[in-house]
Amino acid sequence: MNPVALYVGEALGRYGFPNGHPFGPDRQRAFWDETRVRDLDRRALVCEPVCATHEELARFCDPGFLAFVAEMSERGEGYFDYGDTPAFAGAYEASAHVAGSALAALRQIMDGAVRRSFQPIGGLHHARRDAAAGFCILNDTGVVIETLRAQYGIRRVAYVDIDVHHGDGVFYAYESDPDVIVVDMHQDGRTLYPGTGHAYESGKGAAKGTKLNIALMPGSGDEAFLAEWTRALKFLRGFDPQFVILQCGADSLAGDPLAMLKLTPAVHARVARDLCGLAEDCAAGRIMGFGGGGYNRRNLARGWNDVLQAFIET
Ligand SMILES: [Zn+2]
Repeated sequence: MNPVALYVGEALGRYGFPNGHPFGPDRQRAFWDETRVRDLDRRALVCEPVCATHEELARFCDPGFLAFVAEMSERGEGYFDYGDTPAFAGAYEASAHVAGSALAALRQIMDGAVRRSFQPIGGLHHARRDAAAGFCILNDTGVVIETLRAQYGIRRVAYVDIDVHHGDGVFYAYESDPDVIVVDMHQDGRTLYPGTGHAYESGKGAAKGTKLNIALMPGSGDEAFLAEWTRALKFLRGFDPQFVILQCGADSLAGDPLAMLKLTPAVHARVARDLCGLAEDCAAGRIMGFGGGGYNRRNLARGWNDVLQAFIET
């Protein structure tokens, strides 16, 4: 059994949008109820959420954008973007807790207290350095990657994203960075938001060939996914990453209200197990998991807990 830092708590639960928005504030609870049913709360190291400082957020986020988020958060109405991501009172603090908890987990991993962490409310992969998008206000993963470099001297990071949507906020932030190895498997951008993540997008300049976008057609199931996953895993091993990050959005599971892939949680469990193996072989065991999207509550409860369980048991 592996010690896994699990970040859940009230302050993280507040990251969610009101008035029946698909990314509502009840998602963490749906995850946690299942965690307790499976007794995984007793087998993980449950940690209280932590708030990131402005300085920590500014490692990735544009300071002018942070000021805008703080202002909208105080106002508590309107939108952070063109209409997907509504402002709500306390949005800045909730977002800072998503990034801050990720940083606290990172510290535990780099200090050697644990080697693995999981945070259901996190992996806000559409947010840019200077803009919110697609339910994502601040990009916690970007803050983690910048911190790995600035504080811990780690450059070569594998970022794996199996959310049904392309992780454009992470992808384009590091498109020209040869040391961020990206595997992003998602529903084909011609059929789904944000419309990006084509196979020919493989990184720019010196980073060409360090990103692997795999677009699956609507209706694709486990078999189609796993056929590509074998190739993806081999691709990741070829770069010998020093750290592994998994964004395991549950919106790729069959029955999500916003998307059309038909995966089962077996895929999430398999990816988590394989990446633990990769982390053991290349990255001194260091792996962080983030919940990402997922709007069918039953699906996110199953998919995310399967990942958590794999982290504990693999
Ligand atoms: Zn998504």
